[in-house]
Amino acid sequence: MGRVLNKNKVVIFTGAGISAESGIRTFRDSDGLWNEYLVEDVATPGAWARNPELVLNFYNDCRDQMTSALPNAAHKAIAELEEKYEVIVITQNIDDLHERAGSSNVIHLHGEISKARSSLDETLIYDIGKKRMTKDDTCELRSPLRPHIVWFGENILNYDEARNYIKNAARVLVVGSSLSVYPAAGLLKKASFHAEKGIISLEVDKVPYGYQFKRGKASNLVPCIVESWLNRERAF
Ligand code: NAD
Repeated sequence: MGRVLNKNKVVIFTGAGISAESGIRTFRDSDGLWNEYLVEDVATPGAWARNPELVLNFYNDCRDQMTSALPNAAHKAIAELEEKYEVIVITQNIDDLHERAGSSNVIHLHGEISKARSSLDETLIYDIGKKRMTKDDTCELRSPLRPHIVWFGENILNYDEARNYIKNAARVLVVGSSLSVYPAAGLLKKASFHAEKGIISLEVDKVPYGYQFKRGKASNLVPCIVESWLNRERAF
């Protein structure tokens, strides 16, 4: 027997593209961050072991940029969905623009730029807000603090929780992800066959089975989708 979906549950799955119009660069577009930095120099456990200062400076610059950016129309529209739905935002983003737009349930799969964690005990996580980190910052165990970011080669966070939400959602909207980073992108396959499922992006690697793709900018298209859903109409 198929799963009984709760019509009130909505999952929004987002990637770097939703924050692009807030002025935060994506990783893979032509002006993306990976054209300027080598992944292995700044976003791997090996990079941290070799040159922690370079890693901290990279994330300090990301933090400066992300904490001074503002939520755009797409982040705000998603927050409005809470007027009528139980909404879970599952994001690959490390910025906090969903929270600042008013979304109350945000699951970060790849960490959060405004947090640091112990390099000895990953359960020791600290809010650092806009602060720039230095190599002298330590946790309560006196171990160096590292950015609370999932680096290449590390496990993503909150996977089981995200999978459970997506399995039971009646509506799933994907915004601004190339769907090329796994296992995060693989979560979309856990959605129900019966759920209404759509993707908004400029480009995607491969449209997963059962999803409808609309090409366009998040700030133009997301408010239209949200309006339809608030009127209890289908959008895809
Ligand atoms: P990605 O860089 O691989 O892909 C971004 C996608 O967004 C592309 O498909 C692109 O076509 C689309 N896009 C660009 N501008 C758009 C717009 N205005 N409207 C709609 N779509 C737009 O990003 P990803 O899939 O999220 O995966 C990359 C990883 O990069 C993630 O793990 C994430 O943690 C990290 N990242 C995060 C941020 C952030 O927190 N804002 C920024 C850069 C990278």
